[in-house]
Amino acid sequence: MRVLPDGADGDLALALAGTIAHDGQGGVADHFAEDTDIDAWLAAHFPGLPPRTREEAERLRSIRFAARSAFAAAVAPHPASRVERQRRMSDEEAGERLAAAVNALDPEWTVMVGDDGVRRSLTSAAAGQVLVEGTLALAVLDFLTGPLAPRLRSCQAPRCVRYFVQDHGRQQWCKASCGNRARVARHAERQR
Ligand SMILES: [Zn+2]
Repeated sequence: MRVLPDGADGDLALALAGTIAHDGQGGVADHFAEDTDIDAWLAAHFPGLPPRTREEAERLRSIRFAARSAFAAAVAPHPASRVERQRRMSDEEAGERLAAAVNALDPEWTVMVGDDGVRRSLTSAAAGQVLVEGTLALAVLDFLTGPLAPRLRSCQAPRCVRYFVQDHGRQQWCKASCGNRARVARHAERQR
């Protein structure tokens, strides 16, 4: 049995979403483009996993597609990233895909009631790809239904396709360099 991590901090969900990034030239870089890219990402996030098959690589891309589509729904009424504005899974399909991955874990709850309050954990006997897909889907759901979700935004700076958690209510850009790029673009716009 393995204890499933609590994904409410968004680290794993954002790492998955971040495998789609801008390529620095106005296009989109897919860090899952090659199956070997996926192996490298899995080795970093799920060390000790057996080699995955071609079909499993494709399934991971579909979990990511569902995840980013759910991110796009979660930021509404704020705009989604331009990647999801062009193409995203239907809300219903994204929900079903994520739910199926979590259900396949057949997770078991443990509840600890004590002097320090109530704590809970989820464990699963799943292994391999089922464990990976389920852990990723659970991380996305923990995050998008957790306390940080209302601060999730997509960065609307030119070229950027990232989702990020706002540090404060007025933060518009995922990082300072995106803010600079957006200001330069706005300035150029005004000059025209
Ligand atoms: Zn950005």
